[in-house]
Amino acid sequence: MKNISKEDYLSVIFKNQNSNGEIKSNIIAGKLSVSNAAVTDMLKKLSKDGYIIYERYKGIKLTVDGENYARNMVRRHRIWEVFLNQIVGMPWEKVHEEANKLEHSSSDDLINRLETMLDYPEYDPHGDPIPTKEGKIPKLKKHRPLSELKEGESGKVIRVNDFDEKFLGYISELGIKLQEKISVKQKRAFDKSMEVVVKGKLWNISNKLAQNVFIEVK
Ligand SMILES: [Zn+2]
Repeated sequence: MKNISKEDYLSVIFKNQNSNGEIKSNIIAGKLSVSNAAVTDMLKKLSKDGYIIYERYKGIKLTVDGENYARNMVRRHRIWEVFLNQIVGMPWEKVHEEANKLEHSSSDDLINRLETMLDYPEYDPHGDPIPTKEGKIPKLKKHRPLSELKEGESGKVIRVNDFDEKFLGYISELGIKLQEKISVKQKRAFDKSMEVVVKGKLWNISNKLAQNVFIEVK
């Protein structure tokens, strides 16, 4: 059985809550690849500890304590990712796993020192915003998934989903990275796959891939 910590749960709730600050338990189960029963057990515990408000068959909400805790965990995670990528030279597909381990074992003081050393980065290697010490979250520029671009449109990559190492490794092979320009040459109606140009090269990409790459809207 997978051993998933309460920090992992709180981070997932924080990152995937809707605009009303709510999330359903089946979404948490999907994101963490665990059973609904396991999620229910942990939700009861988190609710008892005062991190979430959880009533059966209703949406789950973070309390103020839960929100602060989760935001700080996300901050730790993303600062470690920047460190591993920029200073250690680890590729972007490797940093997420490593940061998952480090985020639990470091003090706030170490995180603050890393942040200063890195000159206060606003985004992690996947383009996700890093909450400040005071809890402010830098605004992401307007963006939409590559899958929603039309034929002939182009734009710069501003963020990528970071959950899958193989996905990140694969798009690196196509030359896709943050700030790289992508142009849509052709879009196929039957399966929504696309022909795109990256650095002068033509690639066929699936709809699934295109849904996980985000393009800045001009
Ligand atoms: Zn990341």
